[in-house]
Amino acid sequence: MHKLTDSFGRQIKYVRLAITDRCNLRCQYCMPAQGIDIVPRKELLTYKEMYRIIRVLTELGVSKVRLTGGEPFVRKDLIGFLEMLSYNDLLDTINITTNGALISKHIQTLENLKKIKNINLSMDSLQADKFHKITRRDVFPEVYKTFELLEKSSLHLKLNVVVQSGFNTDEINDFVQLTQDKDIAVRFIEEMPFNGNGQRNLQETWNFNRILQEITSEYEITEVPSKKSSTSKNYQVKNYVGTIGIIPAFTRTICNDCDRIRITSTGMLKNCLFDDGVFSIRDFLRNGASNEDLKLLFLKLVKEKPKNGFIAEANRKGNVSESMSTIGG
Ligand code: SAM
Ligand code: SF4
Repeated sequence: MHKLTDSFGRQIKYVRLAITDRCNLRCQYCMPAQGIDIVPRKELLTYKEMYRIIRVLTELGVSKVRLTGGEPFVRKDLIGFLEMLSYNDLLDTINITTNGALISKHIQTLENLKKIKNINLSMDSLQADKFHKITRRDVFPEVYKTFELLEKSSLHLKLNVVVQSGFNTDEINDFVQLTQDKDIAVRFIEEMPFNGNGQRNLQETWNFNRILQEITSEYEITEVPSKKSSTSKNYQVKNYVGTIGIIPAFTRTICNDCDRIRITSTGMLKNCLFDDGVFSIRDFLRNGASNEDLKLLFLKLVKEKPKNGFIAEANRKGNVSESMSTIGG
């Protein structure tokens, strides 16, 4: 079997697929208050197209998929798609990133779908008023309920916290404290300028080192082993059950071992979070391509994967400013 390998010898094993560009929240770091210009529905990949793309990718050695968006659960019949995707015998793992506002009623179903292993829940504050300010929606009680249900479920829970200067940096160590008796992975993410407007005017830069410094000012932590391709550097407080991680999303010190590609909700292949879309897989399919054509196309396009996110950014035609909801976070 041909494997998807880029020109630096990195084998692609993980695909992030954006289910939609729509979202029920308006997080300040992701999009403007009025939302983004969503694309007409017919421009979104259909579930059948998504299934086909993932099937072909798994035939090329991809074993994990992360479903993201926008908010995956705003798309009608996501559960039906998850069931369909579970039939792919070459796929080991389905992970989902969600804001948690719509999923409390689905948790039992998700547990029953055995390929679903990790849920990444985005929760940037543990305080209802601050959560409202960040997301511009009053949904903290529902998201916190989801958090509690997921924590008790058989699914592995990762908590995504975007560290935002002037909003939630005072809560970093409250999140660390959660790991004392909860078997969760709290992951602090550096904020990136993907919010529909470009770089925000921040009071301070909260990068990897600054976040680590904040944690170590209160806790003694040790590094825990991570997979080579992990997006985070991971730590644990002595005798705590859960772990904490920091994702250098903006300082990009993790690119060397990247094993990921992205497919946006409109079917653009992105070899790197920071590059422009590389190719419309959707149009290729809609023009009658066979699975074999698609395989050859992926093998070719992945050779263009840039060495790292800085090179990808330098090669862009426009500035980094689109919303993460368009890219598929
Ligand atoms: N709606 C879902 C959610 O919020 O989890 C999935 C899509 S969201 C774009 C995926 C992840 O990207 C979330 O954890 C979110 O916090 C993160 N994200 C969005 N915009 C970001 C930015 N500008 N910088 C860093 N992370 C960002
Ligand atoms: Fe929606 Fe997720 Fe973006 Fe927040 S981060 S606006 S929940 S897509």
